[in-house]
Amino acid sequence: MVLLERQNTCGQECGELDETRVLLAEDDPASRRIMTHLLKRSGFRVIVAENGEAALGVLGSSVDVAVIDWMMPGVDGVEVCRRLKAATDGRAYVIMVTSRTEKSDIVHALNEGADDYMTKPVDHDELIARVRAGARVAAREREMADTCDELRDEANRDALTGLHNRRYFDDVLRERVTGANAGALALLMMDLDHFKHINDRYGHQAGDEVLRTVGKLIDAEVRRGVDVAARYGGEELAVIAPDTSVFCARELAERIRRRVAELRVCVGETLISVTISVGVAMLDAKILGEPDPAAALVEAADTRLYQAKQAGRNRIAA
Ligand code: GH3
Ligand code: MG
Ligand code: MG
Ligand code: MG
Repeated sequence: MVLLERQNTCGQECGELDETRVLLAEDDPASRRIMTHLLKRSGFRVIVAENGEAALGVLGSSVDVAVIDWMMPGVDGVEVCRRLKAATDGRAYVIMVTSRTEKSDIVHALNEGADDYMTKPVDHDELIARVRAGARVAAREREMADTCDELRDEANRDALTGLHNRRYFDDVLRERVTGANAGALALLMMDLDHFKHINDRYGHQAGDEVLRTVGKLIDAEVRRGVDVAARYGGEELAVIAPDTSVFCARELAERIRRRVAELRVCVGETLISVTISVGVAMLDAKILGEPDPAAALVEAADTRLYQAKQAGRNRIAA
């Protein structure tokens, strides 16, 4: 059984409440009770598992620090440690608690990914001090991971529109095409109509504002976390839509076209109108048979886009 426990009665003993989530896996009821009490009194959010099996059940939830008894029936502490490290990308800080003092045992635990160990009987102050040290390391790891995610996301974005950039588009398309079945993936290639006129008439900065606004509109029309809306280059935009039928792809293209046509971009005193042409291509068996299916899919969507332009612009070709 797993319990999430927390106690806010620590008063002056523990100071502020800590957001650190501590997994305590201990099969001995007396040790478990004492350690739970100590951790809660120190303000930690404590997830209590009464054996290794139960501990495995909480690996999915975010654990910052784990205090794991080595000797438990069934799934032992070393196995819990290994699985917890795998589930948290190595981020959870693991303190193994053991009555074993042989150097080789300790080396084994550290080799399995444990960050620290304590021997039984556990000294109360030392337990809390070590968990706090672990919490500091875990917090730094989390911050670093968040910063990495932000940087990675920024590196994948186009600075003007906030859409994904060309490099990310190329990577995702290649990846999706590799795993997709025929007909399951749609690509929309879009190009603003007579955009040069907008620049010439209202200035380059007004053109930028139009591009930015259209980018936002497209981003709002696609499925968050599923479709990838990108700036392909210049005033060309694209959407990769996985698991999409030709019917839905056309519908999306038509919706984007219509919304762009309805748009009025306010720049200073001026309201600027703009239209967009869209080419839609599906990943079919023929394209999948090409030596470079991703490039062939882009080419197919480009051909349709050209057809939409030739047919008078402000339209879709699918
Ligand atoms: P068409 O309907 O045939 O696509 O006509 P168009 O004028 O849109 O196409 P053309 O390729 O002749 O011109 C594209 C213009 O888009 C020229 C280029 O300066 C402008 N452009 C490309 N990137 C940007 C940008 O980031 N900001 C601004 N303001 N203009 C851009
Ligand atoms: Mg035990
Ligand atoms: Mg254009
Ligand atoms: Mg163009």
